[in-house]
Amino acid sequence: MKVTLENLTKRYPNLNRRIKTEVIAVNDLTFEIPSGKLVGLLGPSGCGKSTTLNLISGLETPTAGRILFDEDDVTGLPPEKRGVGLVFQNYALYPHLTVRQNILFPLENLKGAEKLTRAEMLQKADEAAKLVQIDALMDRRPSELSGGQQQRVAIARALVKRPRILLLDEPLSNLDARLRLQTREEIRRIQRETGVTTVFVTHDQEEAMSISDEIVVMKEGVIQQIGRPQDVYDAPKNLFVAKFLGTPPINVFSARIEKETLFIGEEAVLPAPGLPGGTVTAGIRPEGFLPDPEGKFTLSLSRVEVMGRDTSVVAEHAASLSGAVRAIISSESRPDPESRTVRFSLKPGKVLLFQNDEAADRLVPPGQKEEDR
Ligand code: ADP
Ligand code: MG
Repeated sequence: MKVTLENLTKRYPNLNRRIKTEVIAVNDLTFEIPSGKLVGLLGPSGCGKSTTLNLISGLETPTAGRILFDEDDVTGLPPEKRGVGLVFQNYALYPHLTVRQNILFPLENLKGAEKLTRAEMLQKADEAAKLVQIDALMDRRPSELSGGQQQRVAIARALVKRPRILLLDEPLSNLDARLRLQTREEIRRIQRETGVTTVFVTHDQEEAMSISDEIVVMKEGVIQQIGRPQDVYDAPKNLFVAKFLGTPPINVFSARIEKETLFIGEEAVLPAPGLPGGTVTAGIRPEGFLPDPEGKFTLSLSRVEVMGRDTSVVAEHAASLSGAVRAIISSESRPDPESRTVRFSLKPGKVLLFQNDEAADRLVPPGQKEEDR
């Protein structure tokens, strides 16, 4: 099922009652969640992710705008009439019930024509448990499960009624690093197997990038960019998006264009054909640096960190706007850690230029099409 959000806005009265202005949690959001896809809703804390999810589920009603499930307008429907499956950060299982009873719970509350026989319920619960691979744990209570297992039970419970859409709000945030990796792959597998349209909310860009068909990057209630993870990473719409995606983060420099050449400090580091002169902000991805004794970009070397396959070069540059500069290079081309300076040539596709404003659009040289990147 496809979900369409049309000009969705949610305002709250300010939590501080003395402040009369309202909080705009979600501001004129318009986007489509394609049928059967997993969409990652991504942005810093407070940017409106949970509010957006709650508007889709019906836990919140919008101040303005519409929500369509396929062609049906569900804006006025309560959550239980929407056919949504919800999973939250804290697993919210019933502690006194077994895994089986927790999964059965939504089925036992079906009324009228939807009512199932006991045998049908047990069969559905078994299917859901198998799907998330907790069928061996059906008689345990939540306290006898690991965090990852508890979250699987929560997912099974959300799926057992065959929801039209699965909504997950930071489902991995309570898990430790290893379980987080494992469980996110599980969620991806379950989503593929069921084909259920899914919205996955997270503040963790790596998590969103790794499992989403599409990501929606939000800031202060406003969508910044929508696209496939790699496309958004390669061609961020503005500096905010460029900085939000990628670990280590993009290195940011104050720079200028003179005679169609990009200067950082006094060095002419790259051609910039077709771009007008003036100051700009240059973002260089950590993987955009090539150690090169003849390179045009010189930095003072702080240290060289060997991380197995890759090496991280940490350096200083007076024009850096993001503190220490981090380059990730292959371990074969490691610079001498004793030298005071290090020189690089730059991979043009990894250097992104912006106007000097976080929200302003990225500068794309005329004639350079996004597809060429
Ligand atoms: P996120 O999930 O991205 O961290 P939220 O959607 O929870 O963000 O919140 C977005 C903004 O709306 C925040 O500024 C938050 O303080 C505000 N907000 C959320 N819920 C309420 C509420 N019930 N009353 C007032 N303000 C709220
Ligand atoms: Mg939230």
